[in-house]
Parts: sequence; C-alpha cells; structure tokens
Amino acid sequence: NAPRGVMATGVYSPQHDIYSESRLTLMSDLKEALQRDQTCLHYQPKMCLRTGRVVGLEALVRWHHPERGWVFPSDFIPLAEETGVITQLTRWAVERGLKDLAALAGDYPDLELSINISARDLTDKGLVQSIQAALSQHGIRPNQLTLELTETAAMEDPETGFKALQALAEAGLQISIDDFGSGYSSLSYLKQLPASEIKLDRSLIIDILESDSSRVIVETAVNMVHGLGYAVIAEGVENEDAAQLLRELNCDRLQGYWLSKPLPLAELQDWLLVQNF
Ligand code: C2E
Ligand code: CA
Ligand code: CA
Ligand code: CA
Repeated sequence: NAPRGVMATGVYSPQHDIYSESRLTLMSDLKEALQRDQTCLHYQPKMCLRTGRVVGLEALVRWHHPERGWVFPSDFIPLAEETGVITQLTRWAVERGLKDLAALAGDYPDLELSINISARDLTDKGLVQSIQAALSQHGIRPNQLTLELTETAAMEDPETGFKALQALAEAGLQISIDDFGSGYSSLSYLKQLPASEIKLDRSLIIDILESDSSRVIVETAVNMVHGLGYAVIAEGVENEDAAQLLRELNCDRLQGYWLSKPLPLAELQDWLLVQNF
C-alpha cells in the first residue's frame, strides 16, 4: 500500500517511505513551532575593521524540538527549502528579528540586522510588503535591514530572482551575497546584482594565516569586490591574527567566533554592554 507520490516516482522502498514520513513530521512540527513561536533567533555580532566597533548582527534560527532536543539549521533548512516551509520561516524571522532589533534600538539606534533568505523566498510575492509592514510596526529604517542570500540562490531562476532582489533593493533594503567563494561564481552576473555587500565564505578564511594561496585569493577578492562598488565582510574569523590580516587586506567587516559566537538576545545585551560600541 505505497503512498501515491512514492509509486509515481517508482522508487518505493519501505526505508524511503519511513524516511519521507519522518521528514514530513519534522516539517509539520516546524510549522507548528513557528506558529507557537517555539523557534528563536540567536544573534552573531559583526565588527567594522576600520573602527573596531560593532555595526550589526546576523540572525540565525534555533529550534528546540520537544522530543528531539536541539535541531540544527543544517538539519531542517534544506528540507524547509524543498517543501516551501521556508517562506513561513523567513516571515517569522523578519518579524522576530525586527522586534528584537527594536528592543535594542533605544541603546543602539544605528545597529543593523541581517536575515538569511533562500531562493524560494524570491518567489514569495508578498515578501516585500510583509517586510515593510514589520519595519513600520517596529520603527526600523529599511536600510538597517540586510537580506543575506547565496549567489546560487540568487541565480536559481535568474530572471525572477533578479526582479525580486531589485524590488527589495528599491524598498531600501540592503542585499548581501553570502558564502562568496564557496561555489561557482559568475562574475558577470555578480556585477549586475543590486547588492551592497559580499560575504567571503569561511572556507576562504579558515587557512588564511597558513596558506599563501588563500591569502592571495582573499586579497584579490577584496580588491575585486571593492572595484565593483560593494563592501566586503569575512565570516568564520576565529582568531586575532586572522582579524589583523583581514584589516591589512582592507576587508571592511568581520564576523566569527573570535568576536563572538551567535548569542540569545539577553546574552547579546550583556555582551554589547562591555563592547567599545
Ligand atoms: P551561514 O548563513 O553561512 O551562517 C554562518 C554559520 O556559521 C552559522 O551556523 C554560524 O553559527 C556559524 N559560524 C559563525 N561564526 C563561526 C566561526 O567563527 N567558526 C565556525 N566554524 N562557524 C561559525 P548555523 O547557525 O548553524 O547556520 C548554518 C546555516 O543555516 C547558515 O549558514 C544559513 O545558511 C542557514 N540558516 C541559519 N539560520 C537561517 C534562517 O533563519 N533562514 C535561512 N534561510 N537560513 C538560515
Ligand atoms: Ca548568512
Ligand atoms: Ca555565510
Ligand atoms: Ca558559510
């Protein structure tokens, strides 16, 4: 008695069936968690390398499942993308992220927030409007909000993707190209994107101190990105020497465990108090 979808693809096996069922359960649990606000966001600070000050936060989703315990983004984001649940997650993240940013705005009025979005979100026709509604509800300026997406996501359907990004940029939001250098890059496409920032992938940063070729790649990438008129941020910076080298290479910003791991809002507030803001 195989379910219809499985028969149709001709790959029925009991194992596959069980796997699908637990995946579907995970997704219905996720939808419920989003509705009940049982997911939360942790915030990782970003630092300006010129001034040494904290300039922004990246929101990263966290989910404590009632039976499974902590479920990592890598365990449910790809599935949420496949099933389309991601659009619900993104709308939730925008709402929660801006609410938390509003709570910080009294003390840090210029703090910026980045939210991760996926290819699917670019087909969500109501996204711009829902973001605008959340911005005005929480009194946040559009240019304080950055949407991070990978180049692959932006290029999945170039025509739709480009139009959607254009609409978001026209609404005054900032666009950051995430994980740059982790896959194939089309430089001719990159220069057309309405982005303001390029984020260098951790894989480029990880051995920047040991490997001459990594250092040359990062140096070249920084110069190229600047030449195209974008700002450049490095992710995954884990120690002081790497931070110092990135400063010498003219990288604009950094993010990584050296500065701070992602923190829940209350811990972030304590952390911000002891920073040179
Ligand atoms: P990402 O956007 O590239 O996020 C950076 C990941 O690297 C985060 O993992 C972060 O905790 C981790 N990280 C930060 N600094 C360091 C460091 O110095 N060293 C190392 N080793 N890791 C560091 P996380 O939170 O597990 O997220 C994994 C991925 O899941 C993210 O990669 C992003 O693609 C996705 N994701 C997370 N939250 C969301 C969300 O709300 N929406 C969407 N669409 N995707 C999300
Ligand atoms: Ca990101
Ligand atoms: Ca990234
Ligand atoms: Ca990455």
